[in-house]
Amino acid sequence: MRYVLNLATPLVYTCIGLLIMAVMTSLIGKGGMLQGVGEMARAAFPFVAAATLVPVAWGCYRYYRILRWEHGERDGDCRSCGGDTSQHNGRYGAYVKCRMCGSKREGWH
Ligand SMILES: [Zn+2]
Repeated sequence: MRYVLNLATPLVYTCIGLLIMAVMTSLIGKGGMLQGVGEMARAAFPFVAAATLVPVAWGCYRYYRILRWEHGERDGDCRSCGGDTSQHNGRYGAYVKCRMCGSKREGWH
């Protein structure tokens, strides 16, 4: 669960980026009506590729934080385990949820 909580979002963004790149690749080199779109795709491709590297790096960083946490270097905000926390807005107001142990507390960081 810890891995899912921490790595799901970066992974989803990476998949979206790869999907866009796949669509662009299929558009590049098309003739006829799609030629203009293909040229646009070719021009935008490096930017999409660069943008996809961001969630990859983000995912690696999250993974690195988990490894550190598992090795006992707990420098996060969680009061119970020292893991990384994220801010949420629940029905009863803002709360902080630990991404490592899942404990919650009210308020902001
Ligand atoms: Zn915790």
